[in-house]
Amino acid sequence: MNRQRCRIVIIGGGFAGASLAIQLVRRAPGALEIMIVEPRSEVGRGLAYSTKDPDHRLNAPAFAHSLLPEDFLHFSRWAEDRDLLARDPDALHADGGVYFRRYDFGTYLVETLAEHSTVGATGSQITHLRDLAVSVGFENGFAFVRTQSGQEFVADRVVIATGNPSLRLPKSIIRPWPEHAGLIENPFEPGRLKTLAPAAEILVVGAGLTALDAMSTLLAQGHRGTITAVSRHGLTPRGQGPIPPALRHGATPQLPGQMFHARLTGAIPAFLDSANGVPPKALAWLRALRRQIAEATAGGGAWQQPFDSLRDSLWRLWPSLPLSEQRRVLRHLRKMYDVHRFRTPPQSEATAAAAGARGQVRYATGTVVELRDAGRRLSVAIRRPGGATAPGLIVDAVVNASGLDTAAGIATNPVLRALCEAGHVQIDAHNLGLSIDDEGRAIDVDGKSSNWLRIIGPPTLGSFGDPIGAFFVAAQIHRFIPSILAGLTGA
Ligand SMILES: Cc1cc2nc3c(=O)[nH]c(=O)nc-3n(C[C@H](O)[C@H](O)[C@H](O)COP(=O)(O)OP(=O)(O)OC[C@H]3O[C@@H](n4cnc5c(N)ncnc54)[C@H](O)[C@@H]3O)c2cc1C
Repeated sequence: MNRQRCRIVIIGGGFAGASLAIQLVRRAPGALEIMIVEPRSEVGRGLAYSTKDPDHRLNAPAFAHSLLPEDFLHFSRWAEDRDLLARDPDALHADGGVYFRRYDFGTYLVETLAEHSTVGATGSQITHLRDLAVSVGFENGFAFVRTQSGQEFVADRVVIATGNPSLRLPKSIIRPWPEHAGLIENPFEPGRLKTLAPAAEILVVGAGLTALDAMSTLLAQGHRGTITAVSRHGLTPRGQGPIPPALRHGATPQLPGQMFHARLTGAIPAFLDSANGVPPKALAWLRALRRQIAEATAGGGAWQQPFDSLRDSLWRLWPSLPLSEQRRVLRHLRKMYDVHRFRTPPQSEATAAAAGARGQVRYATGTVVELRDAGRRLSVAIRRPGGATAPGLIVDAVVNASGLDTAAGIATNPVLRALCEAGHVQIDAHNLGLSIDDEGRAIDVDGKSSNWLRIIGPPTLGSFGDPIGAFFVAAQIHRFIPSILAGLTGA
Protein backbone atom coordinates (compact mmCIF):
# COMPACT_ATOMS: atom_id res chain seq x y z
CA MET A 1 0.00 0.00 0.00
CA ASN A 2 1.40 3.35 -0.96
CA ARG A 3 -0.33 6.13 0.88
CA GLN A 4 1.29 9.48 1.53
CA ARG A 5 -1.07 10.56 4.24
CA CYS A 6 -2.85 8.89 7.12
CA ARG A 7 -6.42 8.16 6.27
CA ILE A 8 -9.29 8.55 8.67
CA VAL A 9 -12.66 7.32 7.48
CA ILE A 10 -15.64 8.87 9.26
CA ILE A 11 -18.89 6.96 8.87
CA GLY A 12 -21.73 9.46 9.10
CA GLY A 13 -21.70 13.08 7.97
CA GLY A 14 -24.04 14.82 10.38
CA PHE A 15 -22.95 17.42 12.92
CA ALA A 16 -20.56 14.95 14.63
CA GLY A 17 -18.83 13.82 11.42
CA ALA A 18 -18.42 17.43 10.24
CA SER A 19 -17.17 18.70 13.60
CA LEU A 20 -14.69 15.83 13.85
CA ALA A 21 -13.28 16.42 10.36
CA ILE A 22 -12.93 20.16 10.98
CA GLN A 23 -11.38 19.78 14.42
CA LEU A 24 -8.97 17.15 13.08
CA VAL A 25 -7.59 19.29 10.27
CA ARG A 26 -7.27 22.27 12.60
CA ARG A 27 -5.37 20.29 15.23
CA ALA A 28 -3.34 17.69 13.32
CA PRO A 29 0.26 18.81 12.96
CA GLY A 30 0.62 16.91 9.67
CA ALA A 31 -1.44 16.04 6.61
CA LEU A 32 -4.49 13.84 6.95
CA GLU A 33 -6.75 12.33 4.34
CA ILE A 34 -10.23 12.37 5.80
CA MET A 35 -13.05 10.65 4.00
CA ILE A 36 -16.62 11.12 5.22
CA VAL A 37 -19.01 8.41 4.09
CA GLU A 38 -22.50 9.93 4.10
CA PRO A 39 -25.45 9.10 1.84
CA ARG A 40 -27.00 12.58 2.08
CA SER A 41 -26.04 15.12 -0.58
CA GLU A 42 -24.46 17.49 1.95
CA VAL A 43 -22.20 16.84 4.91
CA GLY A 44 -23.11 18.46 8.21
CA ARG A 45 -26.89 18.54 8.22
CA GLY A 46 -27.61 14.99 9.35
CA LEU A 47 -31.04 14.34 10.79
CA ALA A 48 -31.32 17.47 12.93
CA TYR A 49 -30.32 20.20 10.47
CA SER A 50 -31.81 18.91 7.20
CA THR A 51 -35.31 20.17 7.96
CA LYS A 52 -36.36 23.00 5.64
CA ASP A 53 -39.31 23.92 7.83
CA PRO A 54 -38.80 27.59 8.80
CA ASP A 55 -40.50 26.92 12.14
CA HIS A 56 -37.94 24.30 13.19
CA ARG A 57 -35.52 26.34 15.23
CA LEU A 58 -32.44 25.60 17.29
CA ASN A 59 -33.52 24.71 20.79
CA ALA A 60 -30.91 26.98 22.39
CA PRO A 61 -29.45 30.37 21.41
CA ALA A 62 -26.86 30.68 18.66
CA PHE A 63 -24.03 31.06 21.17
CA ALA A 64 -24.68 27.51 22.40
CA HIS A 65 -24.07 26.14 18.92
CA SER A 66 -20.59 25.95 17.48
CA LEU A 67 -18.57 23.40 15.58
CA LEU A 68 -15.57 24.47 17.62
CA PRO A 69 -15.90 24.14 21.39
CA GLU A 70 -12.95 26.47 21.95
CA ASP A 71 -14.76 29.25 20.04
CA PHE A 72 -18.38 29.33 21.14
CA LEU A 73 -19.20 32.42 19.06
CA HIS A 74 -18.00 30.82 15.81
CA PHE A 75 -21.56 30.27 14.53
CA SER A 76 -22.77 33.65 15.83
CA ARG A 77 -20.03 35.41 13.82
CA TRP A 78 -20.84 33.33 10.73
CA ALA A 79 -24.48 34.44 11.05
CA GLU A 80 -23.47 38.07 11.59
CA ASP A 81 -21.17 38.05 8.54
CA ARG A 82 -24.12 36.92 6.42
CA ASP A 83 -26.63 39.27 8.04
CA LEU A 84 -28.79 36.25 8.85
CA LEU A 85 -30.91 38.08 11.39
CA ALA A 86 -32.07 40.59 8.76
CA ARG A 87 -33.46 37.66 6.73
CA ASP A 88 -34.92 35.92 9.78
CA PRO A 89 -35.91 38.68 12.24
CA ASP A 90 -38.18 36.29 14.18
CA ALA A 91 -35.02 34.49 15.36
CA LEU A 92 -34.47 37.24 17.92
CA HIS A 93 -36.57 36.62 21.01
CA ALA A 94 -37.51 39.18 23.65
CA ASP A 95 -35.12 37.50 26.11
CA GLY A 96 -32.19 38.62 23.95
CA GLY A 97 -31.44 35.10 22.69
CA VAL A 98 -31.20 34.42 18.96
CA TYR A 99 -32.77 31.10 17.96
CA PHE A 100 -31.94 30.60 14.30
CA ARG A 101 -33.59 28.08 12.01
CA ARG A 102 -32.03 24.63 12.10
CA TYR A 103 -31.65 24.68 8.32
CA ASP A 104 -29.53 27.83 8.55
CA PHE A 105 -27.35 26.21 11.19
CA GLY A 106 -26.99 23.29 8.74
CA THR A 107 -25.77 25.73 6.09
CA TYR A 108 -23.12 26.97 8.54
CA LEU A 109 -21.99 23.35 8.99
CA VAL A 110 -21.88 22.67 5.23
CA GLU A 111 -20.01 25.92 4.45
CA THR A 112 -17.53 25.58 7.30
CA LEU A 113 -16.72 22.05 6.25
CA ALA A 114 -16.13 23.22 2.68
CA GLU A 115 -13.75 25.93 3.96
CA HIS A 116 -11.72 23.26 5.74
CA SER A 117 -11.71 20.75 2.91
CA THR A 118 -8.22 21.70 1.82
CA VAL A 119 -6.10 23.23 4.49
CA GLY A 120 -3.02 24.81 2.95
CA ALA A 121 -0.75 24.73 5.97
CA THR A 122 -0.77 21.00 6.60
CA GLY A 123 -2.15 19.77 3.28
CA SER A 124 -4.98 17.84 4.88
CA GLN A 125 -7.95 17.02 2.72
CA ILE A 126 -11.58 16.19 3.47
CA THR A 127 -13.63 14.32 0.89
CA HIS A 128 -17.27 13.26 0.88
CA LEU A 129 -18.12 9.83 -0.42
CA ARG A 130 -21.85 9.76 -1.06
CA ASP A 131 -22.54 6.20 -0.04
CA LEU A 132 -23.68 4.05 2.86
CA ALA A 133 -21.08 2.13 4.85
CA VAL A 134 -22.14 -1.49 5.24
CA SER A 135 -19.21 -3.11 7.03
CA VAL A 136 -15.95 -2.36 8.77
CA GLY A 137 -13.18 -4.85 9.45
CA PHE A 138 -9.61 -5.04 10.64
CA GLU A 139 -6.89 -7.12 8.97
CA ASN A 140 -3.08 -7.05 8.94
CA GLY A 141 -2.92 -3.88 10.97
CA PHE A 142 -5.33 -1.91 8.76
CA ALA A 143 -8.97 -1.15 9.03
CA PHE A 144 -11.17 -1.25 5.96
CA VAL A 145 -14.61 0.08 5.19
CA ARG A 146 -16.99 -1.37 2.61
CA THR A 147 -19.86 0.55 1.14
CA GLN A 148 -23.22 -0.29 -0.36
CA SER A 149 -21.98 0.49 -3.87
CA GLY A 150 -19.25 -2.14 -3.47
CA GLN A 151 -16.25 0.12 -2.84
CA GLU A 152 -13.63 -0.70 -0.23
CA PHE A 153 -11.27 1.71 1.52
CA VAL A 154 -8.31 1.10 3.76
CA ALA A 155 -7.98 3.36 6.80
CA ASP A 156 -5.72 3.97 9.76
CA ARG A 157 -8.69 4.93 11.90
CA VAL A 158 -12.41 4.49 11.43
CA VAL A 159 -14.79 6.69 13.38
CA ILE A 160 -18.45 5.82 13.78
CA ALA A 161 -20.56 8.99 13.73
CA THR A 162 -23.89 7.50 12.69
CA GLY A 163 -25.85 9.67 15.11
CA ASN A 164 -29.55 9.39 15.68
CA PRO A 165 -31.68 6.81 13.91
CA SER A 166 -34.68 7.88 11.83
CA LEU A 167 -37.91 8.05 13.73
CA ARG A 168 -39.78 4.77 13.96
CA LEU A 169 -42.91 3.86 15.83
CA PRO A 170 -41.86 1.97 19.00
CA LYS A 171 -41.94 -1.78 18.51
CA SER A 172 -44.14 -2.14 21.60
CA ILE A 173 -47.06 -0.53 19.72
CA ILE A 174 -49.18 -2.96 17.74
CA ARG A 175 -49.62 -1.29 14.38
CA PRO A 176 -52.31 -1.56 11.72
CA TRP A 177 -51.76 -4.01 8.93
CA PRO A 178 -51.73 -3.25 6.04
CA GLU A 179 -50.16 0.19 6.48
CA HIS A 180 -52.63 3.00 7.16
CA ALA A 181 -52.34 6.31 5.30
CA GLY A 182 -53.15 8.17 8.53
CA LEU A 183 -50.11 6.80 10.36
CA ILE A 184 -47.11 9.10 9.99
CA GLU A 185 -44.11 7.30 11.36
CA ASN A 186 -41.51 9.95 10.54
CA PRO A 187 -42.86 13.53 10.62
CA PHE A 188 -39.48 14.83 9.37
CA GLU A 189 -40.03 13.14 6.01
CA PRO A 190 -40.39 16.17 3.72
CA GLY A 191 -43.99 16.99 2.88
CA ARG A 192 -45.45 14.14 4.95
CA LEU A 193 -47.44 16.35 7.34
CA LYS A 194 -48.77 18.30 4.34
CA THR A 195 -50.81 15.22 3.40
CA LEU A 196 -53.08 15.75 6.44
CA ALA A 197 -56.40 17.52 5.96
CA PRO A 198 -56.53 20.87 7.85
CA ALA A 199 -59.49 19.71 9.94
CA ALA A 200 -58.00 16.30 10.81
CA GLU A 201 -58.07 15.22 14.44
CA ILE A 202 -54.50 14.21 15.22
CA LEU A 203 -52.89 12.20 17.96
CA VAL A 204 -49.16 12.81 18.42
CA VAL A 205 -47.30 9.99 20.15
CA GLY A 206 -44.80 11.76 22.40
CA ALA A 207 -44.70 15.26 23.86
CA GLY A 208 -41.04 16.24 23.57
CA LEU A 209 -39.22 18.49 21.13
CA THR A 210 -40.08 16.33 18.11
CA ALA A 211 -43.76 16.65 19.00
CA LEU A 212 -43.29 20.40 19.26
CA ASP A 213 -41.66 20.43 15.81
CA ALA A 214 -44.61 18.51 14.37
CA MET A 215 -47.13 20.84 16.02
CA SER A 216 -45.27 23.93 14.76
CA THR A 217 -45.35 22.58 11.21
CA LEU A 218 -49.05 21.70 11.41
CA LEU A 219 -50.10 25.03 12.95
CA ALA A 220 -48.00 27.01 10.47
CA GLN A 221 -49.68 25.21 7.57
CA GLY A 222 -53.05 26.31 8.92
CA HIS A 223 -54.17 23.18 10.72
CA ARG A 224 -57.58 23.67 12.35
CA GLY A 225 -58.27 20.26 13.89
CA THR A 226 -57.34 19.28 17.43
CA ILE A 227 -53.87 17.95 18.15
CA THR A 228 -53.46 15.78 21.25
CA ALA A 229 -49.96 14.87 22.37
CA VAL A 230 -49.94 11.75 24.52
CA SER A 231 -46.88 10.74 26.52
CA ARG A 232 -46.16 8.12 29.16
CA HIS A 233 -45.40 10.61 31.92
CA GLY A 234 -47.38 13.59 30.69
CA LEU A 235 -44.28 15.77 30.92
CA THR A 236 -43.40 18.47 28.41
CA PRO A 237 -40.06 20.21 27.76
CA ARG A 238 -39.31 23.22 29.93
CA GLY A 239 -38.40 26.68 28.68
CA GLN A 240 -35.06 28.43 28.51
CA GLY A 241 -33.67 30.33 31.46
CA PRO A 242 -32.84 34.03 31.38
CA ILE A 243 -30.02 34.89 29.01
CA PRO A 244 -27.07 36.50 30.87
CA PRO A 245 -26.75 40.18 29.83
CA ALA A 246 -23.30 39.66 28.27
CA LEU A 247 -24.72 37.00 25.95
CA ARG A 248 -27.80 38.90 24.79
CA HIS A 249 -27.98 39.99 21.21
CA GLY A 250 -26.23 43.31 20.74
CA ALA A 251 -24.14 43.04 23.93
CA THR A 252 -20.63 44.20 23.22
CA PRO A 253 -18.36 42.70 25.90
CA GLN A 254 -15.55 40.58 24.55
CA LEU A 255 -16.05 37.14 26.04
CA PRO A 256 -13.31 34.53 25.95
CA GLY A 257 -14.05 32.00 23.20
CA GLN A 258 -13.12 29.19 25.58
CA MET A 259 -15.76 30.22 28.12
CA PHE A 260 -18.23 27.39 27.58
CA HIS A 261 -15.61 24.78 26.91
CA ALA A 262 -13.96 25.73 30.19
CA ARG A 263 -17.29 25.04 31.90
CA LEU A 264 -17.51 21.61 30.30
CA THR A 265 -13.98 20.70 31.28
CA GLY A 266 -13.84 22.48 34.63
CA ALA A 267 -14.23 21.01 38.10
CA ILE A 268 -17.30 19.00 39.07
CA PRO A 269 -19.66 21.42 40.85
CA ALA A 270 -19.06 21.41 44.60
CA PHE A 271 -22.66 20.41 45.37
CA LEU A 272 -22.18 17.12 43.48
CA ASP A 273 -18.57 16.41 44.37
CA SER A 274 -17.94 13.18 46.28
CA ALA A 275 -15.02 15.01 47.94
CA ASN A 276 -17.72 17.04 49.71
CA GLY A 277 -19.43 13.90 50.98
CA VAL A 278 -21.99 13.54 48.16
CA PRO A 279 -22.05 9.80 47.43
CA PRO A 280 -22.30 8.63 43.78
CA LYS A 281 -25.97 7.72 44.13
CA ALA A 282 -28.98 8.84 42.14
CA LEU A 283 -30.96 9.95 45.16
CA ALA A 284 -28.03 11.84 46.72
CA TRP A 285 -27.51 13.77 43.47
CA LEU A 286 -31.21 14.52 43.16
CA ARG A 287 -31.34 15.86 46.72
CA ALA A 288 -28.18 17.91 46.21
CA LEU A 289 -29.58 19.37 43.00
CA ARG A 290 -32.90 20.23 44.61
CA ARG A 291 -31.14 21.98 47.49
CA GLN A 292 -29.03 23.93 45.03
CA ILE A 293 -32.08 24.91 42.98
CA ALA A 294 -33.92 26.02 46.12
CA GLU A 295 -30.95 28.21 47.09
CA ALA A 296 -30.60 29.65 43.60
CA THR A 297 -34.28 30.50 43.24
CA ALA A 298 -34.50 31.93 46.78
CA GLY A 299 -31.71 34.31 45.75
CA GLY A 300 -33.61 35.38 42.62
CA GLY A 301 -31.74 33.02 40.28
CA ALA A 302 -33.18 30.43 37.92
CA TRP A 303 -33.34 26.63 38.26
CA GLN A 304 -31.49 26.36 34.98
CA GLN A 305 -28.20 27.52 36.55
CA PRO A 306 -27.65 24.58 38.97
CA PHE A 307 -29.22 22.18 36.49
CA ASP A 308 -26.77 23.26 33.81
CA SER A 309 -23.85 22.70 36.21
CA LEU A 310 -24.99 19.08 36.52
CA ARG A 311 -25.51 18.78 32.75
CA ASP A 312 -22.08 20.20 31.93
CA SER A 313 -20.31 17.70 34.22
CA LEU A 314 -22.46 14.71 33.40
CA TRP A 315 -19.89 13.19 31.04
CA ARG A 316 -17.60 12.90 34.07
CA LEU A 317 -20.20 12.19 36.72
CA TRP A 318 -22.05 9.45 34.82
CA PRO A 319 -19.17 6.92 34.62
CA SER A 320 -18.59 7.43 38.37
CA LEU A 321 -22.06 6.03 39.17
CA PRO A 322 -22.18 2.29 39.87
CA LEU A 323 -24.15 0.38 37.23
CA SER A 324 -27.07 -0.20 39.59
CA GLU A 325 -27.32 3.55 40.24
CA GLN A 326 -27.13 4.33 36.52
CA ARG A 327 -30.06 1.95 36.05
CA ARG A 328 -31.95 3.73 38.82
CA VAL A 329 -31.40 7.08 37.10
CA LEU A 330 -32.56 5.74 33.76
CA ARG A 331 -35.64 4.11 35.28
CA HIS A 332 -36.78 6.91 37.58
CA LEU A 333 -35.10 10.17 36.62
CA ARG A 334 -34.32 10.13 32.92
CA LYS A 335 -37.66 11.48 31.78
CA MET A 336 -37.43 14.36 34.28
CA TYR A 337 -33.84 15.01 33.22
CA ASP A 338 -34.78 15.07 29.54
CA VAL A 339 -37.61 17.59 29.88
CA HIS A 340 -35.37 19.97 31.82
CA ARG A 341 -32.37 19.33 29.57
CA PHE A 342 -33.89 19.58 26.07
CA ARG A 343 -35.66 22.92 26.27
CA THR A 344 -38.02 24.55 23.87
CA PRO A 345 -37.13 27.30 21.44
CA PRO A 346 -39.35 30.14 22.76
CA GLN A 347 -40.91 30.73 19.33
CA SER A 348 -42.28 27.16 19.08
CA GLU A 349 -43.27 27.24 22.73
CA ALA A 350 -45.33 30.39 22.13
CA THR A 351 -47.06 28.89 19.06
CA ALA A 352 -48.01 25.72 20.94
CA ALA A 353 -49.09 27.68 24.03
CA ALA A 354 -51.40 29.91 21.95
CA ALA A 355 -52.97 26.83 20.34
CA GLY A 356 -53.27 25.29 23.82
CA ALA A 357 -55.05 28.39 25.12
CA ARG A 358 -57.69 28.12 22.38
CA GLY A 359 -58.10 24.38 23.12
CA GLN A 360 -56.63 23.16 19.85
CA VAL A 361 -53.52 21.57 21.37
CA ARG A 362 -53.98 19.23 24.31
CA TYR A 363 -51.76 16.97 26.36
CA ALA A 364 -52.64 13.54 27.76
CA THR A 365 -50.86 10.97 29.89
CA GLY A 366 -50.74 7.33 28.84
CA THR A 367 -48.96 4.74 26.74
CA VAL A 368 -50.18 4.01 23.25
CA VAL A 369 -50.36 0.23 22.97
CA GLU A 370 -52.25 -0.42 19.76
CA LEU A 371 -53.33 1.29 16.54
CA ARG A 372 -56.12 -0.29 14.53
CA ASP A 373 -57.62 0.41 11.18
CA ALA A 374 -61.01 2.08 11.61
CA GLY A 375 -61.84 2.62 7.97
CA ARG A 376 -60.46 6.01 6.96
CA ARG A 377 -59.66 6.73 10.60
CA LEU A 378 -57.51 5.08 13.26
CA SER A 379 -58.58 3.60 16.56
CA VAL A 380 -56.00 4.06 19.33
CA ALA A 381 -55.78 1.99 22.53
CA ILE A 382 -54.05 3.89 25.34
CA ARG A 383 -52.94 2.42 28.68
CA ARG A 384 -53.62 5.00 31.37
CA PRO A 385 -51.25 5.58 34.30
CA GLY A 386 -53.28 3.30 36.63
CA GLY A 387 -52.82 0.37 34.24
CA ALA A 388 -56.29 0.24 32.64
CA THR A 389 -56.34 0.37 28.86
CA ALA A 390 -58.82 2.75 27.30
CA PRO A 391 -59.80 1.38 23.90
CA GLY A 392 -60.95 3.12 20.86
CA LEU A 393 -59.95 6.76 20.79
CA ILE A 394 -60.81 7.54 17.16
CA VAL A 395 -58.61 10.00 15.29
CA ASP A 396 -57.89 10.84 11.67
CA ALA A 397 -54.15 10.54 11.97
CA VAL A 398 -51.40 9.44 14.32
CA VAL A 399 -48.05 11.22 14.17
CA ASN A 400 -45.10 9.45 15.76
CA ALA A 401 -42.84 11.75 17.79
CA SER A 402 -41.79 9.19 20.34
CA GLY A 403 -38.14 10.07 20.52
CA LEU A 404 -35.07 8.48 19.13
CA ASP A 405 -34.46 4.83 19.87
CA THR A 406 -30.69 4.49 19.48
CA ALA A 407 -30.74 0.77 20.27
CA ALA A 408 -33.30 0.08 17.54
CA GLY A 409 -31.15 2.22 15.24
CA ILE A 410 -28.21 -0.15 15.77
CA ALA A 411 -30.22 -3.14 14.60
CA THR A 412 -31.35 -1.38 11.43
CA ASN A 413 -28.05 0.25 10.43
CA PRO A 414 -26.02 -2.20 8.30
CA VAL A 415 -22.60 -1.05 9.46
CA LEU A 416 -23.52 -1.13 13.14
CA ARG A 417 -25.17 -4.51 12.77
CA ALA A 418 -22.08 -5.86 10.98
CA LEU A 419 -19.78 -4.48 13.69
CA CYS A 420 -21.91 -6.13 16.39
CA GLU A 421 -21.99 -9.45 14.52
CA ALA A 422 -18.19 -9.40 14.08
CA GLY A 423 -17.73 -8.66 17.79
CA HIS A 424 -15.81 -5.41 17.11
CA VAL A 425 -18.26 -3.49 19.31
CA GLN A 426 -20.47 -4.30 22.23
CA ILE A 427 -23.84 -2.88 23.17
CA ASP A 428 -23.54 -0.87 26.38
CA ALA A 429 -24.92 -2.10 29.68
CA HIS A 430 -28.15 -0.10 29.26
CA ASN A 431 -28.86 -1.06 25.68
CA LEU A 432 -28.69 2.60 24.69
CA GLY A 433 -25.77 2.48 22.32
CA LEU A 434 -22.22 1.18 22.00
CA SER A 435 -19.56 0.91 24.70
CA ILE A 436 -16.49 3.11 24.48
CA ASP A 437 -13.57 3.87 26.78
CA ASP A 438 -12.57 7.31 28.10
CA GLU A 439 -10.89 8.24 24.82
CA GLY A 440 -13.67 7.14 22.50
CA ARG A 441 -12.20 3.76 21.54
CA ALA A 442 -14.81 1.12 20.78
CA ILE A 443 -14.84 -1.70 23.30
CA ASP A 444 -15.09 -5.09 21.62
CA VAL A 445 -16.98 -8.15 22.86
CA ASP A 446 -13.93 -9.28 24.83
CA GLY A 447 -13.82 -5.97 26.65
CA LYS A 448 -10.72 -4.72 24.81
CA SER A 449 -10.43 -1.16 23.49
CA SER A 450 -9.84 -0.93 19.72
CA ASN A 451 -7.36 1.74 18.74
CA TRP A 452 -8.49 1.67 15.11
CA LEU A 453 -12.20 2.05 15.80
CA ARG A 454 -13.71 5.11 17.52
CA ILE A 455 -17.29 6.11 18.26
CA ILE A 456 -18.61 9.64 18.83
CA GLY A 457 -21.90 11.39 19.53
CA PRO A 458 -25.35 9.93 20.29
CA PRO A 459 -24.34 6.22 19.99
CA THR A 460 -22.16 6.77 23.10
CA LEU A 461 -25.17 7.76 25.22
CA GLY A 462 -24.97 4.76 27.58
CA SER A 463 -21.27 5.30 28.30
CA PHE A 464 -21.26 9.06 28.78
CA GLY A 465 -24.73 10.12 29.84
CA ASP A 466 -25.48 13.07 27.55
CA PRO A 467 -23.48 13.36 24.31
CA ILE A 468 -26.49 14.67 22.37
CA GLY A 469 -26.57 18.46 22.04
CA ALA A 470 -24.36 19.89 19.28
CA PHE A 471 -21.96 21.73 21.59
CA PHE A 472 -21.60 18.66 23.81
CA VAL A 473 -20.78 16.47 20.83
CA ALA A 474 -18.16 19.02 19.70
CA ALA A 475 -16.67 19.05 23.21
CA GLN A 476 -16.58 15.25 23.33
CA ILE A 477 -14.72 15.22 20.00
CA HIS A 478 -12.29 17.83 21.32
CA ARG A 479 -11.43 15.50 24.23
CA PHE A 480 -10.97 12.48 21.97
CA ILE A 481 -8.80 14.12 19.30
CA PRO A 482 -5.37 13.71 20.97
CA SER A 483 -6.00 9.99 21.26
CA ILE A 484 -7.33 9.70 17.68
CA LEU A 485 -4.20 11.42 16.37
CA ALA A 486 -1.76 9.59 18.65
CA GLY A 487 0.36 7.07 16.79
CA LEU A 488 -0.62 8.25 13.31
CA THR A 489 2.63 8.81 11.47
CA GLY A 490 2.61 12.10 9.62
CA ALA A 491 -0.35 13.43 11.62
C1 LIG B 1 -34.69 16.60 15.29
C2 LIG B 1 -33.51 16.97 16.11
C3 LIG B 1 -33.29 18.30 16.45
C4 LIG B 1 -32.19 18.64 17.21
N1 LIG B 1 -31.99 19.96 17.54
C5 LIG B 1 -30.90 20.30 18.22
C6 LIG B 1 -30.64 21.68 18.53
O1 LIG B 1 -31.41 22.56 18.19
N2 LIG B 1 -29.52 21.98 19.21
C7 LIG B 1 -28.63 21.01 19.62
O2 LIG B 1 -27.61 21.34 20.23
N3 LIG B 1 -28.86 19.71 19.37
C8 LIG B 1 -29.95 19.34 18.68
N4 LIG B 1 -30.18 18.02 18.38
C9 LIG B 1 -29.20 17.04 18.83
C10 LIG B 1 -28.39 16.39 17.70
O3 LIG B 1 -28.33 15.03 18.02
C11 LIG B 1 -26.98 16.85 17.57
O4 LIG B 1 -26.98 18.22 17.43
C12 LIG B 1 -26.26 16.29 16.34
O5 LIG B 1 -27.06 16.53 15.20
C13 LIG B 1 -25.84 14.86 16.38
O6 LIG B 1 -25.03 14.72 15.23
P1 LIG B 1 -24.66 13.34 14.59
O7 LIG B 1 -23.81 13.65 13.43
O8 LIG B 1 -24.07 12.47 15.65
O9 LIG B 1 -26.01 12.67 14.17
P2 LIG B 1 -26.97 12.84 12.90
O10 LIG B 1 -27.32 14.25 12.71
O11 LIG B 1 -28.07 11.88 13.14
O12 LIG B 1 -26.10 12.38 11.65
C14 LIG B 1 -25.67 11.07 11.45
C15 LIG B 1 -25.44 10.85 9.97
O13 LIG B 1 -24.91 9.55 9.79
C16 LIG B 1 -25.37 9.05 8.55
N5 LIG B 1 -25.27 7.59 8.59
C17 LIG B 1 -25.93 6.73 9.38
N6 LIG B 1 -25.56 5.47 9.10
C18 LIG B 1 -24.64 5.53 8.12
C19 LIG B 1 -23.91 4.55 7.40
N7 LIG B 1 -24.05 3.24 7.64
N8 LIG B 1 -23.04 4.98 6.44
C20 LIG B 1 -22.87 6.30 6.18
N9 LIG B 1 -23.56 7.27 6.83
C21 LIG B 1 -24.44 6.88 7.78
C22 LIG B 1 -26.79 9.56 8.44
O14 LIG B 1 -27.19 9.65 7.09
C23 LIG B 1 -26.70 10.93 9.12
O15 LIG B 1 -26.58 11.98 8.18
C24 LIG B 1 -31.29 17.65 17.64
C25 LIG B 1 -31.52 16.31 17.30
C26 LIG B 1 -32.60 15.98 16.53
C27 LIG B 1 -32.79 14.55 16.15
